[in-house]
Amino acid sequence: MMQSLNDIRRTLPSDVKLVCVSKYQTVDAIQEAYDAGVKDFAESRVQELLKKREQLPRDIRWHFIGHLQTNKVRQIIPFIHLIQSVDSVHLLECINREAEKAERTIDVLLEVHVAQEDTKTGFSEADFEMLQTLVQTPLTNVRIVGVMAMASHTEEESRIRADFSKAATLYNQLFPNGGTLSMGMSDDYPIAIAAGANMVRIGSKIFMS
Ligand SMILES: *Cc1c(COP(=O)(O)O)cnc(C)c1O
Repeated sequence: MMQSLNDIRRTLPSDVKLVCVSKYQTVDAIQEAYDAGVKDFAESRVQELLKKREQLPRDIRWHFIGHLQTNKVRQIIPFIHLIQSVDSVHLLECINREAEKAERTIDVLLEVHVAQEDTKTGFSEADFEMLQTLVQTPLTNVRIVGVMAMASHTEEESRIRADFSKAATLYNQLFPNGGTLSMGMSDDYPIAIAAGANMVRIGSKIFMS
């Protein structure tokens, strides 16, 4: 695992943040990546995240990248570092409310849907004006700091490039002063970086073998 992790780290530009996606991985494997210097880990299910967090070092920065149900927000608010998958205004308002109760300010990314498949969740280009209003209207306990996106699940590189480029355009319009553009996974992160990603979320490629 160290080998693949180091290979990835060597090829990432210094301004691109690596988030290690630890869903499906054992606590031991996560600990190994932590010992190798990774501090940012991402999970996509609340129960799994809570269970793993109990058994791992407290200074891990936990990211949430899955569909988040509002009735589970409260459980992650005390510690979550970045919620990357905000896909509705309803969820955003719920996070703000729970963060206020917990006296925290939570950083979030807006998940935008740019892939071909309509199975993926997130805001669409049609929501652009509403997103602009969201970003420009401060909430008391949430900071919207950027955009998260996933490309179509395809081998077709031009399609992936087009998806990432669409997300980058939205990001640049919403955050002209900069922020976080989280896109790129094991199979497509070089394309995402070329399109402007400054955060990548890599799982299987780190943990293989
Ligand atoms: C699983 C997942 C990843 C990582 O995928 P890999 O192919 O294992 O690198 C990244 N982002 C999201 C939202 C995911 O669900």
